[in-house]
Amino acid sequence: MDKKEILKEFSSDPDKYYKVKLFEEQGFVRKACSKCGRFFWTLDSGRGLCPDDADDTYSFIGEPPTTKRFDYTQAWKQVEEFFVKNNHTSISRYPVVCRWRDDLYFTIASVVDFQRVMGSKVVFEFPANPLVVPQTCLRFKDLENVGVTGRHFSSFCMVGQHSVPNSQGYWKDECVDLDFRLLTNQFGIKKEEVVFVEDVWAGGGSFGPSLEYFVRGLELGNAVFTEFQGELGQHTTLDQRVIDMGAGLERFAWITMGTPTAYDCCFGPINQKLFENIGIDSDSEILIKYFTEIAKALENFEDLNDVRRHAIKQAGLTDEQLNKMITPLEGIYLIEDHLRTLIFAISDGALPSNVGGGYNLRMMLRRINGTINRLNLKLDVDGLIDTHIDYLRDTYPELDAKREDVKRILDIESERYEESKTRMKKIADKISQKGTPSVEELITLYESDGVTPDYLKEVNAISEIPSTFYSKLSDLHQSEKKKEIEKLPLEGLPETDTLFYKDDPMEFDAKVVKVFDDHVVLDRTSFYARGGGQEPDHGIISGFKVIDVDKHADIIVHKLEGGVPKEGETVSCKVDSTRRANITKNHTSTHILNASSRGVLGSWVWQHSAFKEDDHARLDITHHSSLTNEQVKQIEDAANNMVKQNYSVTIQYFDRGTAEQKYGFRIYQGGVVPVKSVRIVSIEDKDIEACGGTHVKKTGEIDLIKITKTKRIQDGVIRLEFVSGQTAQEYVKLQEIEQRKKAEELVQKELKEKQREEEKQKTKEKIPALLEQITALSSTGTIDEIEIKVENSMKRCFTNSNQYDEFFHMNFGKKLVKKNLNSVYVGIFESGLTIRVVAYSGEEASKSKNAGNIAKSVAEILGGAGGGDAKFAQGGGKDTSKIDEAIAKAKSMILE
Ligand SMILES: [Zn+2]
Ligand SMILES: [Zn+2]
Repeated sequence: MDKKEILKEFSSDPDKYYKVKLFEEQGFVRKACSKCGRFFWTLDSGRGLCPDDADDTYSFIGEPPTTKRFDYTQAWKQVEEFFVKNNHTSISRYPVVCRWRDDLYFTIASVVDFQRVMGSKVVFEFPANPLVVPQTCLRFKDLENVGVTGRHFSSFCMVGQHSVPNSQGYWKDECVDLDFRLLTNQFGIKKEEVVFVEDVWAGGGSFGPSLEYFVRGLELGNAVFTEFQGELGQHTTLDQRVIDMGAGLERFAWITMGTPTAYDCCFGPINQKLFENIGIDSDSEILIKYFTEIAKALENFEDLNDVRRHAIKQAGLTDEQLNKMITPLEGIYLIEDHLRTLIFAISDGALPSNVGGGYNLRMMLRRINGTINRLNLKLDVDGLIDTHIDYLRDTYPELDAKREDVKRILDIESERYEESKTRMKKIADKISQKGTPSVEELITLYESDGVTPDYLKEVNAISEIPSTFYSKLSDLHQSEKKKEIEKLPLEGLPETDTLFYKDDPMEFDAKVVKVFDDHVVLDRTSFYARGGGQEPDHGIISGFKVIDVDKHADIIVHKLEGGVPKEGETVSCKVDSTRRANITKNHTSTHILNASSRGVLGSWVWQHSAFKEDDHARLDITHHSSLTNEQVKQIEDAANNMVKQNYSVTIQYFDRGTAEQKYGFRIYQGGVVPVKSVRIVSIEDKDIEACGGTHVKKTGEIDLIKITKTKRIQDGVIRLEFVSGQTAQEYVKLQEIEQRKKAEELVQKELKEKQREEEKQKTKEKIPALLEQITALSSTGTIDEIEIKVENSMKRCFTNSNQYDEFFHMNFGKKLVKKNLNSVYVGIFESGLTIRVVAYSGEEASKSKNAGNIAKSVAEILGGAGGGDAKFAQGGGKDTSKIDEAIAKAKSMILE
């Protein structure tokens, strides 16, 4: 939908869409900006320009429009106090990892908390009306602005004010009245300073007017009135109208503090700590001038680097001031911001990785590390995490319990980054030679090699980071694609009665309502359809084998083999109960292993996916490193302890909102649940998940869980393969047999080794006697399978006896030619899959009998190669069929 069109339409009838009671009561006048034409409402009749174009834009820096001062946490206290006083319920923030929507990784606005996707529709579920929430939101599009512009954050607190107009909630008049009084009464901002600008909002098929409110050019909030649906002109009013007012808490703090940047008043004591630590020469006059220029120029340039250059010039900064003040400041702000975002994300169960939403987290940590290195800072990151959490604890007490987890994860990640540096340096060197890479090339570099542009800048491989890099990367990794649904001829069929959620009979009768190809739809069924990683039931329908069962919306489709019954027939059905029982045990075991993994490894463990078959199952969990044998054992022991405790497994249905409030978002281990009534499976209070699968009644029924294998299947995801019940018992038996076999093999191997050692010893002992005998020999003969030819006082010896091994040949040959300078020794023997030859020729003998030539000729026959010199050489080949030929050749070369 074209927002401009809607705005034109709405602004042509301001009385209907924008004029609220407050404007009338207070005497606001409506004006059109003489520069851009936008309409705005003000108490200052002399004002001719909209907040973006006015001269007073950002003049609050250094000179706030109120005498009250509230930093970040104090600002929330003020907001909360005000709204609670005015009959709002203050609710806790929702997780920043958006578990309840599969089209978003992270929570990007407060209204997302209350949106649930049902099919193609978005519905709202509010736990209270009206309400206010300090919702932490993560946005990665403007990452390159963070630390530089003074007002961009990778995460911020959106003050969400939400109301549904009914007997409890209110509509436009009261909303704008509250927002105005918050600014003027609670914050003490003069009435004349507040300007409301007409705008519209459109998205997800609905739209409505909105009023943005500004003070001194800073947009503090935007009250959206989601009111209509359909195409403009033919639109209708929504059944459920919603007020979605979002305001930036960071900006509330900034407007009252008037610090050079919003960062200066939003990170608590960290700022001062870092300033002192690093010894920044901060001159507030210069900073106020510089950041005011940045704020004003931000919209006027395409490229952030140009904005920076402009502000440096306008503020009259010297190179020295830039290098000693602005550059380190930008670095500090970036570190503070990124660290805060990582604290929230990791606390809520996200892990840095190279997939999905983890991309952005890894990128941020690498930017932190890159900045620390580039500026050569000595920082205690763990200490900064503590300071952040100590400061945020007031508003977000849940962070307190996660501080060690956050430190742990960041530590592991930083270590990996350090380890990968040598490799990255090589890549960076190549890049500097090739010239400036394009944005696409930079994205590829990050995605396939983990090389961030910040790193490239750190090592001077590139001079500037292209301004579109982060927004492009963020677009690529915002959400997962949904899989396409197969189209089947199911239109008009009634919802299948799912008996497996009721009495769950293993034998039942049902009416055939539809047959197509080898597929059958019944009016009711106890065959569990594939879902939530649980494989389908098998069995018999009307004498035909059921080989697959799938669910398409509310209709269950059975796939048969060997034939199909007729439509309209009543058929008898039988579920393979053994298979079902096995799958069921595996499913409950998945929940048990998930809980025990989290207990053993850490709070960041979530189910990533799962698969439950008859004779095997697997659970993929989020975890940063491969598991050690010790960890696997601990997880298995913890799981079997849950089995042994024979905990009750209960299934209850809850209204989705109630389930979320009661149990938290941990229930969404298996992903999003697109139904209003949630099926909650609890293993007492040890594990509570929303799940549609079949489960045992008591954990003791599982009998045993054995983890058969674990592996890291992708960055940040570990797969646990396991078996349970009877299969686990069989597995243990097999393992015992296997172990016994292995032990026996080991004994055999040791025995053989011992024999070989003894023989070696024997031949070794033989060497001195043999040497004496051969030295004493004066005519041709054979001693202990060594053929010796004596001719012209030269002794030529050859053997291929298999009583001699490599050790013998090497030692005996060497000693023989040393003792008898005019002697030659050649031995041929088998060694593994090759046949080898060793040749020694004494000082005197080597003049006519060259050891190298002999070894080379013999090895060539065997299909290999030989090497060495005239006095000593060896070689060999794999062609064992040529052994006789090789022996003949060797004999001919020395004995003849
Ligand atoms: Zn304007
Ligand atoms: Zn489940």
